[in-house]
Amino acid sequence: MIHHRFEELKLSGSLPSPAGVGLSVLRLTQREESSMEELLWCLQADPALTGRLLKLANTARRPEEDPSTNVVSAARRLGMRQVRGVALGFTLMSSHRGGACSTFQYDRYWAQSLAVAVSARLLARSLRTLEPDDAFTLGLLARVGMLALAGVHPDAYGRILEEGADRPSHELCRAEQREFGIDHWEVTAAMLSDWGLPDVLCGSLLAAAHRESAHESMTSREASGTDSSGSLLELALAMADLLGLDREKDTAKFERTSAAALEIARRNGIEVDEFPRLCEIAARHWRDWCELVRLPCSDASGFHGIDVDDSSFPRCPSIPEEPNGEGVRADGALVRVQGPIRVLVVDDDEKLGRLVGLHLTRAGYQVTMATNGNDGLRMALTESPQIVVTDWMMPELNGLELCHALRRTDVGRKTYVLLLTAREDEDRIVDAFNAGVDDYVTKPFNPKILLARVQAAQRLVELQLQVDADKRIREQQVAEMGLLTRKLRSAALTDVLTELPNRRFAMSRLEEEWEVALLLRRPLSVVMVDIDHFKQINDRFGHAVGDHVLRETATTLREFTRRGDIVCRLGGEEFLVINVNSDAQGAMMCAERLRAAVEANTIEFETFHGRVTVSLGVAERTTEMRDIDSLLKAADQAVYVAKAAGRNACKLAGGNESQLRSA
Ligand code: GH3
Ligand code: MG
Ligand code: MG
Repeated sequence: MIHHRFEELKLSGSLPSPAGVGLSVLRLTQREESSMEELLWCLQADPALTGRLLKLANTARRPEEDPSTNVVSAARRLGMRQVRGVALGFTLMSSHRGGACSTFQYDRYWAQSLAVAVSARLLARSLRTLEPDDAFTLGLLARVGMLALAGVHPDAYGRILEEGADRPSHELCRAEQREFGIDHWEVTAAMLSDWGLPDVLCGSLLAAAHRESAHESMTSREASGTDSSGSLLELALAMADLLGLDREKDTAKFERTSAAALEIARRNGIEVDEFPRLCEIAARHWRDWCELVRLPCSDASGFHGIDVDDSSFPRCPSIPEEPNGEGVRADGALVRVQGPIRVLVVDDDEKLGRLVGLHLTRAGYQVTMATNGNDGLRMALTESPQIVVTDWMMPELNGLELCHALRRTDVGRKTYVLLLTAREDEDRIVDAFNAGVDDYVTKPFNPKILLARVQAAQRLVELQLQVDADKRIREQQVAEMGLLTRKLRSAALTDVLTELPNRRFAMSRLEEEWEVALLLRRPLSVVMVDIDHFKQINDRFGHAVGDHVLRETATTLREFTRRGDIVCRLGGEEFLVINVNSDAQGAMMCAERLRAAVEANTIEFETFHGRVTVSLGVAERTTEMRDIDSLLKAADQAVYVAKAAGRNACKLAGGNESQLRSA
């Protein structure tokens, strides 16, 4: 029955569905074999979405971890399944910020959904019944059934909402059942499953819905027997309700809702003292999120001010979003145009033109004049006035043609065009607006009205300038932040002494190459390099000489590796070469080249004059190896064998280099 009803809703073609990048994400979600690479490729096309994923990944990070600064590391941190879910939720949010149902408050709906999402995520960390990022997706989409019903049946759903916008959810469900034969929980569950989201999410959702209706007819003890991830969502919904309430204004409702939420929290083993702390953290995260995605968020839940230790939930570095399209500064003031506003007056009736010009000059505008349409167009394009006041009827190029021509140029598109018309032309004023005119004044004109219209134009011009200025500032900030992040990232990944990539870089790069090798079925090898008797150099010649030897050796290693291979300093006198797309034989050749090069290099520094040698261990990835650690361990053991064999030597892990030579 539910299935049948849902299919009917689907046939309407009005069910919410993600647009653009979200749609591609959805397709990948529904395909079993889709890869992280495909997903990343598609996410990068949507900067707003990228910002949101970064925020989520950084909320998820542990305090000791560096923040994710790009979508690749964010996606790796979150995991494929979570990225798909979250991307789906956010693209849906972007494309459904409004709709046909006049009583459905779309922004409030999404703000509330975000409150459920952050609450669910927080609870998942304490209750451990769901993965936190899965919980976030579940929260964000938990009530998508309402959005769906409002989209498919805007009028009928609008009436239902009007009858009682604030009634409890189970009453709303009953009304939905009566009207549509399906309620929003059932629609949500069907949609999540239709989108290919994991069964565990649909299961939690239905369990929560079941609990909600069960509480109406059961005692809480009976109801507490149902599924535990369902109760996570139930509690998240209750917390979100609470966050959305104004404690001062809706005191009674706040008390009631918080008592109910506390009861659910208690059933889930959350201490009475602990609950307000959770709410406070959730409120904080909620405000952060609402700010990021520009949704209204009631700031009055009464939870702030509680002193909480939020250190385990690091806040994300602020990520710039797209310009907000408003021309007003944060302090509410408008930026004024530098110098007077330039107005071009075009009229073939010179006397009238001069009169218009006189009034405008007196009002402080900088006026230039043209006496026909062609001159007017030329001057408009060369002098780029902010406002053009033009007569309609003129020989050669008339006012409408002038406007039309202007609108086809970049400069002219931004110019405000005010048309002077004779009273008898008023019937045809629609043509003027079609040609791109912004406003009109009838002749003979009343100077006060003319000035009022020009001043209105000035406000718009200033607003537009402000938008442009804000956009430039924003673009600059984004560029600066990109630069800063790149610098920080490269500083964090570079070894100060040798300027080679450091261990952290080596490990993450090796992880990446491991994935690529798996995906493309190509070989991957590493060479571990250790300087022989390095300690003696330090001991005999001092640390400064030791440091110099390290730098020289690093340079030699870098010089004698192929382009595409990566040399890193792991620490101390140990280096690692990642041989991308190389088998053992290729890596052994590389190792031997490096060994000979180091041995041949004479180093002169202070009291030191001589050479050093290195011992090298080579290992190739095999199918038995589970991860990069096994590969590194194999190379390490080979170094040990090289040392034992007298140093200044290359050894292959597993000891079968004799086979290589014969191959
Ligand atoms: P083996 O041939 O067995 O590798 O002997 P070794 O002396 O090279 O190896 P060992 O691991 O005993 O000594 C490595 C030394 O490297 C010890 C440490 O003091 C020194 N070292 C580590 N990092 C640095 C550094 O940044 N600068 C200098 N000058 N010395 C370092
Ligand atoms: Mg060593
Ligand atoms: Mg050594």
